Amino acid sequence: MHQTFIVFIIFLLLLPVSGLSCLASEPSLPQSTDQLETFEIDGNTYPIPEPWSGNRIAAPSPAAIDFRMISKAHTHNGTKIYIEKNARDALQVLMDAAKEDGVYLTVNSGFRSYNYQMRIFTRMMREGRNYEDVIRYVAPPGYSQHALGTAIDFYPSNWEFAELLTYTWLQDNAWKYGFKETYPRINESGYPWEAWHWNYIGNAHTAENKAPGPAERPLQ
Ligand SMILES: [Zn+2]
Repeated sequence: MHQTFIVFIIFLLLLPVSGLSCLASEPSLPQSTDQLETFEIDGNTYPIPEPWSGNRIAAPSPAAIDFRMISKAHTHNGTKIYIEKNARDALQVLMDAAKEDGVYLTVNSGFRSYNYQMRIFTRMMREGRNYEDVIRYVAPPGYSQHALGTAIDFYPSNWEFAELLTYTWLQDNAWKYGFKETYPRINESGYPWEAWHWNYIGNAHTAENKAPGPAERPLQ
């Protein structure tokens, strides 16, 4: 058995490079990402589970996005955060309006590329967390709205945000500036609630898309 294994390894080593790449692509599964929703980390292939499956984001190439930096006065720890120009301009107007109401918003995250999302995933798994655990909280590469350049996370990007006046203000007012809460507490796709995550959809936004009023809001 042991010898057989060694012989097999020697066989692999003797294979020409083209032979190896042929072996690597051997399982002839459909290559279309629509049919085969998986992604690879460190040579392992993982399935994309619900609610992500079927919801891949068609993000433009980062090179095609006209990025602008969000004023450092409005980012957590003055970090340089970039989003698409129209989203940045609308966000600035939104934050100015919030300030007039005594509400101070801080942005924690903006554009994140496919590769960045992959690095987050890879790092967490190399730290020993298992795939099922990570994917419960982190969008798999290709499924994060942050790749669009229009999505932002406000600070703090955790459950505490839902308790803050800033969140209530956003629910009442963000739609006026073209922003929408992507993953509200109750959403059709069954995504986990992310009170801190908002996406700029511009003129597509109307009062109909307004977040539920205080009376409709769940007590939390
Ligand atoms: Zn987010």
